[in-house]
Amino acid sequence: MKTTGTPAGKATHDNGIRFIAQRESNARTYARTFDRMMARGSLSRVWDVEGREYIDLLACAGALPLGHNHPQVMEQVQSFLQSGHILQGLDIATPAKLEFLEQLFQTLPASFADEARIQFCGPTGSDAVEAALKLFRIATGRQSVIAFHGGYHGMTSGSLALMGNLGPKNPLPGLPGHTHFFPYPSDRRCPFGVGGTQGEDLSLQYLDNVLRDPESGITQPALVILEAVQGEGGCIPASPRWLRKLREITHRHGIPLVIDEVQTGFGRTGTMFAYEAANIVPDAVVLSKALGGGFPLAVLAYHRRYDQWLPGAHAGTFRGNQIGLVAGAATMQILRDQDLPQRAASRGAYLQRKLRELAEDLPCIGDIRGRGLMVGAEVISAPEAGTPGVLDGALAKAIKRECFLQGVILETGGRHGAVMRFLPALTITEPEIDEAMGRIRNAIERRLERDALTA
Ligand code: PMP
Repeated sequence: MKTTGTPAGKATHDNGIRFIAQRESNARTYARTFDRMMARGSLSRVWDVEGREYIDLLACAGALPLGHNHPQVMEQVQSFLQSGHILQGLDIATPAKLEFLEQLFQTLPASFADEARIQFCGPTGSDAVEAALKLFRIATGRQSVIAFHGGYHGMTSGSLALMGNLGPKNPLPGLPGHTHFFPYPSDRRCPFGVGGTQGEDLSLQYLDNVLRDPESGITQPALVILEAVQGEGGCIPASPRWLRKLREITHRHGIPLVIDEVQTGFGRTGTMFAYEAANIVPDAVVLSKALGGGFPLAVLAYHRRYDQWLPGAHAGTFRGNQIGLVAGAATMQILRDQDLPQRAASRGAYLQRKLRELAEDLPCIGDIRGRGLMVGAEVISAPEAGTPGVLDGALAKAIKRECFLQGVILETGGRHGAVMRFLPALTITEPEIDEAMGRIRNAIERRLERDALTA
């Protein structure tokens, strides 16, 4: 069966999709909405095997910071593949690893990098989170972990135990315990019902109080883990002020602060790392997705004072994938040379402006928020002045599907899946954003028309 390259016939395509759907697990995810066989990609555009074009506003859940097949990255990868260098090497030293580490240590903020050590992990964000759990439990001798409502850290047992979303957790008995969840600040849907800095202060005061309370029931935690901008949780940015105060509290209580930058890292939020907006220094950062420049790679970077685990404590076969090292190094060089974090900040502002224009005509679009090119737009029903509206996951899902049919790839997330999430490549252009917005407008209007007809 022909699955790549030149356009295939419709029957061949549909048979292929059916075959894959029948053979793949019921847990498959994106393929349910994006039910075309994708062949080619170039930066923010992809084409299916029948030659239909899509604007990609998902960029492999943020793993393609430069988009598909960026020519400079591909050049490096191709010349590496032809060089005869070993392509897999467990975690032994190679020139590719050296180049990658040099790039990474130049890319991490100096205040963190100067004292940092790196653990290469199995090449997923989840495994790097597992490494963080293991490292800080070993280093502190403590068991408890503090995570946040709405947080997402992966799908392996340990990382899933840190997840806010109950969907994947409810059907699964026997998840590891010892995780304690705290409210993450949210202006529009404040867990304390007050919003703004008052809501932020309440969440900090509550955390500080619990940590001081000898009757809190929570033993001294091994770590606090969070995303500086929650991604899967619905694109919710924590303010720099809140992050700074959180850092103060964790310092005061002697608890390592781990920032999960798997989705936010490498320029996405307008700074190289999202936590930099708060001018803090965490004890560890978890990195994956963009780290490998589109190839699988993950690391845990942490202050060397915690480097107390034994040799082999987080062994694994596929750590430090050589192609990922080469593509990651090339990507970091480009991110810095072209100041792509800054571009993400301005393109993100442009994208938010365009979404606001859309929301003026389409009241089903509620709160629009984000940082850099990590943007979310709530889909709501019953919008009423002065209220945030009722989150409408079913409508969001229908819009996502209609967008795909109109040639736009975007994901939904957040509570009830009611947030449209925009994570395009940092190389996306303003005309491409305009074009995508035109298609999204069409998609929403068509969807609403259809709903009106069937009402
Ligand atoms: N942490 C965050 C913040 C993520 O967004 C994700 C993936 N969406 C993960 C961890 C897990 O990464 P992976 O899917 O590579 O295991």
